[in-house]
Amino acid sequence: MPLLATFLKRCVLVARWLWAALSALLIDLLSTARCSACDQTLRRRSVFCPTCATSIVRATPPYRAIVALGTSDAGAGGQTVRVYGFAQYGGAVADALRRLKYDDRPDLAHPLGALLRRVTRQARAATPDGTSSLSCDLVVPVPLHPRRLAERGYNQAALLARQVRPELGAPLRPTMIRRVIDTPAQARLSKQARAKNLRGAFVIARPEQVRHQRVILVDDIATTGATLAACATALHDAGAASVSALVVALADRRSDDK
Ligand SMILES: [Zn+2]
Repeated sequence: MPLLATFLKRCVLVARWLWAALSALLIDLLSTARCSACDQTLRRRSVFCPTCATSIVRATPPYRAIVALGTSDAGAGGQTVRVYGFAQYGGAVADALRRLKYDDRPDLAHPLGALLRRVTRQARAATPDGTSSLSCDLVVPVPLHPRRLAERGYNQAALLARQVRPELGAPLRPTMIRRVIDTPAQARLSKQARAKNLRGAFVIARPEQVRHQRVILVDDIATTGATLAACATALHDAGAASVSALVVALADRRSDDK
């Protein structure tokens, strides 16, 4: 009897998986492609309409190097993190990211995730042996604080990570980093006080699963890079072999962060 029960349970799991895959495919086939920035109907499958596409400035070079924060009790400070981005923040990319985050449009993670897959392919193609800092063992989204997650209903970074994961070819660990301090609430603090708080803002849920692993962090946007640096520091402190990051937009320092 236990064998039969196990078999039936597996059948249910397979049926559920098939149903999810089939409905995703049907939605993809039946839905009209629309511009991620202005919702205009597109004739061919693309992320942006021709008008919006003209506002996009690709990130050159394709990555920015940031430095993980130093911590007093661990030697993680000074580790370089390459942050790969699709475009500079602005124009249609900024509009699409704002809609994804603030207009209750989690569906936009699908087309915007395609941009992250493109960045990954291009970074790999640019190196002779096809490897790059985007070769990894784990894919980890930058977490939202639980309160913010409850407000928004979804973590846009986790949705983007799910979209790019197949291209990265590594398992997704959406709950590996926990955000224990809601840092934007401390926006009035001095820059130094904020940096200090950011250091303690992220906790690695399962450090043993991070040790000796090459980790890719995924987020929608990198501004000062402070959030990514704080996550990278936490990962390095837990023993990660290397940390790189993948974002849709690399912003200059004046744009808003979370
Ligand atoms: Zn458009």
